[in-house]
Amino acid sequence: MNARVLAAALALGTLLASPVRAQQDFSSVRIEPEKVADGIYVLKGAGGNIGLSVGEDGAFMIDDQFAPLSEKILAAVKAITAEPLRFVVNTHWHGDHTGGNESMGKAGALLVAHENVRRRMSAEQFNATFDRTTPPSPPGALPVVTFTDALTFHWNGQTIRVFHVDPAHTDGDSIIHFVEADVLHMGDLFFNGSYPYIDVSSGGRIGGVVSAAERVLKAAGDRTRLIPGHGPVGTKADLEAYRDVVATVGDRVAALKAQGRSREEVVAAKPTAELDAKWGQGFMKPDVWVGLVYDSVE
Ligand SMILES: [Zn+2]
Repeated sequence: MNARVLAAALALGTLLASPVRAQQDFSSVRIEPEKVADGIYVLKGAGGNIGLSVGEDGAFMIDDQFAPLSEKILAAVKAITAEPLRFVVNTHWHGDHTGGNESMGKAGALLVAHENVRRRMSAEQFNATFDRTTPPSPPGALPVVTFTDALTFHWNGQTIRVFHVDPAHTDGDSIIHFVEADVLHMGDLFFNGSYPYIDVSSGGRIGGVVSAAERVLKAAGDRTRLIPGHGPVGTKADLEAYRDVVATVGDRVAALKAQGRSREEVVAAKPTAELDAKWGQGFMKPDVWVGLVYDSVE
């Protein structure tokens, strides 16, 4: 395995693997909190960005990265608030967002997610794109409250709306909206500054990624802060740029596919060429991404 392939494999490991399979060394990872609004933080470490609401009702967390980081994550929460952790909401089932579920549950959090998150975590998952199998999660890691469409928390002085969107990154994606604070956590529906991973094996579809972005753009203003699954906290303008890139590539690939071009031909045609210098530098390399767009385009 050469260095580039190895680097790509490690990056995908971060994205896809269960904590056990990732076999990453987390010892040097630091959990770094960044204030997003009054009482709302993002915690960066390894894996998906964690959202955190603190206040007199208790800590409310969105996603929890990998199990080996749980102690550090809980210490970071403790440094921000003296109140206990009461809820974790998962944006989707991937291991870099749910790996800490079992530890957070043990720490007292009630685990909440869309019903497809629990369904996928309950059974072995096979990812055809990367030929990777993820074993079922332990029972203690499974969400204990599930929903199909939406639910609302009234917590820490916020109205926190959690809503499911049509299949996009997976078939179990949710967005969390802190209404008064004007902050949304979009999970992996938003990769700020890079091509998004679309987990076709988990029911993901590019059209859903575009419509989820549209839905958030309708609710967002110029002061809205958007927490992506990966990348820096963004603005409405960042999300517009992302939506434009994803929609443009989707349209190009759809047109080529409609002409009867094969997957290999479309990848070889490099329909993202002029965008790659800016958007193809994340873990979704252009060739892999175009293939996933091909697989999932209508
Ligand atoms: Zn994901």
